[in-house]
This record gives sequence, structure tokens and C-alpha cells, in this order.
Amino acid sequence: MTAPVPAPVPASVRAAGPAGPRLRIDLGAVAANTRLLAERAVALMAVVKADGFGHGAADVARTVLAEGATALGVTTLQEGLELRAAGITAPVLSWLNPVDADFAAALRARLHLAVPSREHLDAVIAAAARTGRRAQLHLHIDTGMARDGADPARWGELCLPAAQAERRGLVEVVGVMSHLGCADTPGDPCTDAALTAFRAAVRTARAAGLRPRLRHLAATAATLTDPRTHFDLSRVGAGLVG
Ligand SMILES: *Cc1c(COP(=O)(O)O)cnc(C)c1O
Repeated sequence: MTAPVPAPVPASVRAAGPAGPRLRIDLGAVAANTRLLAERAVALMAVVKADGFGHGAADVARTVLAEGATALGVTTLQEGLELRAAGITAPVLSWLNPVDADFAAALRARLHLAVPSREHLDAVIAAAARTGRRAQLHLHIDTGMARDGADPARWGELCLPAAQAERRGLVEVVGVMSHLGCADTPGDPCTDAALTAFRAAVRTARAAGLRPRLRHLAATAATLTDPRTHFDLSRVGAGLVG
């Protein structure tokens, strides 16, 4: 997307090496984009995966948090741990991890975890029991993206044991999330189908006894074009740095 007119400075300078190419990052533009998106969204989770889309995850994170984002999103645990190492204390959600990822380290760093399968849930519960740290979870359903998230046919099998673990104090299910596959095309019926599936998933979670307070579906495109997808939070990446 086109960035609004950037404010002057601040900027960070990233170098590939002493004599390598230099990329000047205009954090003023990131700040302006954040303000614009925060105005559209109910609440804003800034996605700073892939080193903030190559802009420097920690620099981008500090900027967006100062401009209205309330949480950060990353794919891998490693990215979340790097934000913590950089001194960032805001809520961080990580959503793309193998089942044998070091969830104990994630809980010690107070990272929130997306859970796309029963196997992931069991691994996180075990890590919570081992570390004595309650896991903050976002149950992740696939509503058509078919890249990550639980198969809707198995969603109930994920919600019930999550509710059981919540009653035992090992986890807290704070969110239900999904990702849209075709929001770049406004009016695409596949977004309608995803919305229907997402609402059904939230109902199933509630019927299982869960009380997720953060329902989130929209990324940049849907945040800008489709208010039906906004729910409680937007996860916005490319729109911050574009
Ligand atoms: C990358 C990503 C986003 C951000 O998408 P943009 O289109 O860059 O805003 C949101 N949610 C998930 C699950 C992602 O992987």
C-alpha cells in the first residue's frame, strides 16, 4: 500500500556490512501508518515477523507501540524471544511453531502462543506444568487459508481439552484467531465463508466453556476494506511498513 506522507525523522540506518548496501528506514512513515491503521481497527496488533519485514523488528516494535499498537505478533518463538532480549515488554503473540518448539522458554518470556492443533495444546500444557507458568493461548482455526490453524472438523476436539486445562489453571484462552486467504479482493465470497466459519468457531469455543476476549481475523487488507472482519483486534503487518 502507499504510505501516507512521512513525518521527518526519526530514522534508523541498517547496514548489511561495513561496506555493504545501506537501507535507510523511515520510522516516521511507520509511525504515520500505525496511526492511520489504529484509527480504523478496534485494536491493533503490529506484526513484526521476518525482522519487521526487513525494517528491524525491535525498532519497528518500539515505534508502533508508541503510536497506538497494543500488542505485537510474530511467527516463530525465536522472533518473540529476540523482542524480549531487546527489552520490549508489550504482549507478543507467536503463531507458527512446530509441535516440538521450546514452549517452556516461551512461557518464561511471557510470550502468548497460538495453538493450531491438539498436539500443540498438549505440548504447551506440558510446558506450563513443568515451568509453573500459566500459558496465554489463542486458539487458531483454519477458515479457508489452509496454511495454518486447526481443521474446523477438529475444532471441538481442541476447545474441550483447552477448557479443561483452563479449569486446572495451566492455560488461559485469551483469544480465537484465524487468517483470511482472499481479503485482497474486496467482495470475494471466500471472505464471507471465512466469516461464517469464524463466528461458528467462536460459538463452539464458548459452548466448551471458554471466554476468549480477543477474536481476531483481519490483517491489513481486511482492516482497510471490511469492517465485518474487525472483531476485537486487527493483526497488521505490511500496512505498517508499506
Ligand atoms: C503476516 C500475517 C499477518 C499480517 O498480514 P499483513 O497482510 O502483512 O497485514 C496477519 N496474520 C497472520 C497470521 C500473518 O501470518
